[in-house]
Amino acid sequence: MYDVVIVGAGVMGSATAYWLSRAGKRVALLEKYSPGHVRASSADESRMVRYQYRGQTLYTEMVAAAVELWKEFDRRSGAGFYREQGALALQARPDNPPFMEGYEGLLELGYEPVWLDGDEVRRRYPHFTNIDSGYLLEGLGGYVAARTATQALAESAAELGADLRTGAEVTELRESGGRIARAVTQDGSTFEAEDFVIAAGPWTPKLLPDLAIPIRSTAERLHYLSPPDHDAYSYPRLPPFFVMDTNFYGFPVHWRGCVKVADDTIGATFDPDRDREHEDEEAVAKLRDFLRRHMPGLSDAEVVYSKTCTYSMTPDADFVIDYLPDRANAIVAAGFSGHGFKFGILIGQILADLAMRGTTRWDLTRFRLDREPAAMDGHW
Ligand SMILES: Cc1cc2nc3c(=O)[nH]c(=O)nc-3n(C[C@H](O)[C@H](O)[C@H](O)COP(=O)(O)OP(=O)(O)OC[C@H]3O[C@@H](n4cnc5c(N)ncnc54)[C@H](O)[C@@H]3O)c2cc1C
Repeated sequence: MYDVVIVGAGVMGSATAYWLSRAGKRVALLEKYSPGHVRASSADESRMVRYQYRGQTLYTEMVAAAVELWKEFDRRSGAGFYREQGALALQARPDNPPFMEGYEGLLELGYEPVWLDGDEVRRRYPHFTNIDSGYLLEGLGGYVAARTATQALAESAAELGADLRTGAEVTELRESGGRIARAVTQDGSTFEAEDFVIAAGPWTPKLLPDLAIPIRSTAERLHYLSPPDHDAYSYPRLPPFFVMDTNFYGFPVHWRGCVKVADDTIGATFDPDRDREHEDEEAVAKLRDFLRRHMPGLSDAEVVYSKTCTYSMTPDADFVIDYLPDRANAIVAAGFSGHGFKFGILIGQILADLAMRGTTRWDLTRFRLDREPAAMDGHW
């Protein structure tokens, strides 16, 4: 018998296990593969932390709170996963609405993004061409080395007493008396608990097929390139960046001496259990087009590694954090829609608070299962 059973050891489940274990709760963390495995959304080397959210105060406040928690956990664990390098926002054409709303939203919230006209972008960041303008929030944001952070959270939870089970796929959530009573894994083992947290990422619809907010697993391609000049493509000469109206974004040299460049366009539906390290010529051709136009110094750079990752898209790109209908002891946290990692350690704290006390200081109305999702207009 546990206090809380958590399904899924991605960043969300691992962070929940960490906070609950730190509070002395008896926790089982059940993971179908292993924390930070290649198929998980949390598995990659870099996830951007940016404060701009088109003036959406809740998200920006959550980013600021999450950053403090990331830094504290990074110090405590010694894992060294947080890179405070800022985030450079660029647009190829003037007045792109999401870009401008992001900039103006930061000003309204009291931040001081530095506006860069085209000449200033070229002077500071000669890596880019055909850019109209940009802005930089100096010293705020950057990226988290995602796989390292996820594994550090799961390992810290285990050190604090959590029962971490790998190769444990939950195939059934068994009910009794209007509550979830136990999780059953593929080998027939059962895990009983007072409360359950389901943080199964893009696999969520497999375990919970009838959620009121649909979650679609989509294919997203990312590429690691070997730059011609390491220093020129390393921080601080190149910070994490995105060219918003192209959907491409990237990170300075970090993993295996490579720059990462990836495409944020919402892709086709993709089974998260599928192989994802296969070649994708179409995606590489699209990457080369972007590089030729906007980062010509990389247009012939060797693609050292490339893979498909999966977003868990909701129709409005807002998260799902809510109790399952009529199940007061089971919370689902899913649908992080390609922008959830930065919040991971905070979401874990929120889920732990809900499991322990039934409340959180955060207003979760926006993430409820009974909302009417409006179609998403561009990016957050
Ligand atoms: C290419 C890409 C780029 C991204 N970029 C950013 C970014 O720059 N900034 C940002 O903030 N966010 C970004 N994101 C989003 C972010 O990575 C995700 O929102 C976040 O990692 C989701 O974490 P999760 O724990 O919900 O899911 P996952 O990491 O997928 O974890 C779910 C876990 O549950 C396990 N599981 C599933 N079903 C079961 C079961 N039945 N039994 C047991 N275990 C199970 C899985 O094996 C998996 O380990 C990006 C995502 C992708 C794919």
